[in-house]
Amino acid sequence: MVELRKVIVFIFVSFLFVYMIWINFSVLNKFGHKKLLSALMISGLGLISIGTFFDVISSLSGMKFRNLIQICFTAGAIIFVTYIILWSNHIAKILANLNQHAHTDAMTGVYNRIGFERELMKKSSRKKESFYVMVLDLDKTKEINDNFGHLNGDRYIISAAKIIKDEMGKIGFVGRTGGDEFIAFLENVNEYDIEKIKHSIKIRVSNIFLKENKNMNISIGYSKYEKDGQDYDELLRIADERMYEDKKKRKNIIRNLQ
Ligand code: GH3
Ligand code: MG
Repeated sequence: MVELRKVIVFIFVSFLFVYMIWINFSVLNKFGHKKLLSALMISGLGLISIGTFFDVISSLSGMKFRNLIQICFTAGAIIFVTYIILWSNHIAKILANLNQHAHTDAMTGVYNRIGFERELMKKSSRKKESFYVMVLDLDKTKEINDNFGHLNGDRYIISAAKIIKDEMGKIGFVGRTGGDEFIAFLENVNEYDIEKIKHSIKIRVSNIFLKENKNMNISIGYSKYEKDGQDYDELLRIADERMYEDKKKRKNIIRNLQ
């Protein structure tokens, strides 16, 4: 008489085997194949399935496969546990990668808007010390695209992002919030430091197309917590207004020179 318990275990393990093959290959096909992982899963669960199969056969036929069953279960369990450890490490790496992509601007490598706001949330939930929000918009990006091509337009944005990130150093972080617009958070600085950083960014950006004999510009505005606003939206609005004032001022100067 076949023991029902053994048949149930065999059916369950076989179902798990098929399910694991499907989940393993569908995940690995999307996120990069790892032959070792598939081999470990198939051999580990395969051996356990064979063990449960011979367990059913032994109760059906009366033949004893004790040693074979033991070897299958022991080796299968060791291999399968190894697979689970490697698999969870692999999944953790995939998730970390996805998380980074979701919060990073692919073109420049700085934070995107979601990433920037997440970092800001982390900061503001920890402390309530004074900080600055800076809004930066490159001047004449469209002109660069039209005169030098889109690739040079991209180079302009990428170089500016590098400069801003570099100038922020350890005192802040930067995100790209639109085509040629950036936002930065700065802490542990005073007005003098901010003005120095602003000046340095402007000088370095102006030199990006030096070889092409083109003098570039970036418009910058900033606001200070709590002097200018009590929350991020207010600080952003004021920094944005000041950035536009900066842009308008320069456009007026250029217009008057023409
Ligand atoms: P302004 O001096 O007033 O800032 O004008 P602008 O030409 O820089 O144009 P604006 O800031 O109003 O708009 C951004 C322009 O940047 C629009 C688009 O032509 C260009 N742009 C936006 N995203 C990209 C990008 O990813 N690559 C390139 N090459 N150009 C972009
Ligand atoms: Mg612009």
